[in-house]
Amino acid sequence: MQGHINPMHQFSKSLVSKGIKVTLVTTQFLFKSFQQLSGSMPVETISDGFEGGYASAESLEAYFSKFKKVGSETLTKLIEKLNATGFPVDCIIYDAVMIWVLDVAKIFGLVTAIFFTQSCAVDNIYYHVKKGVINVPIENQVSLPGLSVLEPLDMPSFVHNPGLYPGLLDIMVNQFSDIEKVDWVLCNTFYKLEEEVIEWMSKQLRLRAIGPTIPRKYLHNEKTPEDDIDDGLQMFKPNIDACMNWLNEQQEHSAIYVSFGSLAELDARQMQELAFGIKQSGKHFLWVVRASEEYKLPRGFVEETSAKGLVVQWCSQMEVLAHKAIGCFVTHCGWNSTLEALCLGVPMVAIPICTDQGTNAKFIADVWRMGVKVDVDKNGVFKGEMVGHCIREVMDGKKRKEIKTTSKRWMEMAREAVKEGGSSDISINEFVASLTQHSK
Ligand code: UDP
Repeated sequence: MQGHINPMHQFSKSLVSKGIKVTLVTTQFLFKSFQQLSGSMPVETISDGFEGGYASAESLEAYFSKFKKVGSETLTKLIEKLNATGFPVDCIIYDAVMIWVLDVAKIFGLVTAIFFTQSCAVDNIYYHVKKGVINVPIENQVSLPGLSVLEPLDMPSFVHNPGLYPGLLDIMVNQFSDIEKVDWVLCNTFYKLEEEVIEWMSKQLRLRAIGPTIPRKYLHNEKTPEDDIDDGLQMFKPNIDACMNWLNEQQEHSAIYVSFGSLAELDARQMQELAFGIKQSGKHFLWVVRASEEYKLPRGFVEETSAKGLVVQWCSQMEVLAHKAIGCFVTHCGWNSTLEALCLGVPMVAIPICTDQGTNAKFIADVWRMGVKVDVDKNGVFKGEMVGHCIREVMDGKKRKEIKTTSKRWMEMAREAVKEGGSSDISINEFVASLTQHSK
């Protein structure tokens, strides 16, 4: 869920910087888990109907069904409360997986904006599943408008292997239910990164690329007072001091950073292979292993490798990626991690596990050429030896120069997009202007 919270939070901050009053809304359960609360904008809560969040529901279907019912009721009450404060609500921007928000917004006559936290390529794939153009499970390559030919394993895992996480395909595809009734479709990407597919999708929907939603201080080298206190709503406590002390001791571009985000769960065998590959690469490493995953680490690994590596439960990823010691990011290719590495020009070793990560990995390696991809089969199984090989290829191999050069180019283009007058900045201004118009 961190991958949904961060982009929405950062986008809210950019709206605030353009004079819009924003209230960030989250579930009561998530609110309780935040380590650090936003300093610059109010946060309100609604209920998903569960004390312990989605983990306490019988199934994902049961979670989303109750969330729809209780969420609609509590969101209605919240809008009524906000309307009574003298700052009536004009618009709701909602995460694309919470499609029921549209119905609540329509009752109040609000402007609606659906917010996609995945790439436009992935949006396009689910859009075509919804339209019945792609049959699931997909077994052959497909050619979709605005995209190069994709093999089944280049598609989101729910499309080629829907049995792995039953119910999730429906949630992903339903992001496009009633989409023609939504006023704005906002996508966390930027024009030059996905030009052709953005062009095509914009002809179908009122889609605007407004990303990458990265904290300003990393993009413009300018810090606002909010940046100090408001660096994100973290679900886990980052071990900042240990990471920075360790990174400061490493030579420039000599260390690798390894993280699989906030949700991916490796099984014990995958963890063994990953540990083997990291060790075999011979590189110094900073590896994030969430507390819930730690028990799968090979016995004695942390002690054995302590001269070369540091294993932490969570870090401030942007601070780590921005550090000069980091030469490569071994990543599961979550969309936020991909954009963050791209914005900081860090080459990647892609090890996609599930969801949209396979599609992101395909683009990282073959289209944007910002890294190399480890072979992962349809069940998420990969070989440690190949991990080690790919790390050395990105850190010292023949491809390093080309990957470094293209990564730098993408970094510049991403920064250009969000600068004043850049393509994403123009899209955000257009959206803001429509809100101002509506509230008159
Ligand atoms: N992240 C972090 N600290 C960590 C690991 C991850 O702050 O130790 C952040 C990362 O910067 C990113 C988010 O968590 O913004 C993960 O989102 P992503 O889309 O990459 O993956 P997901 O968690 O959704 O699989």
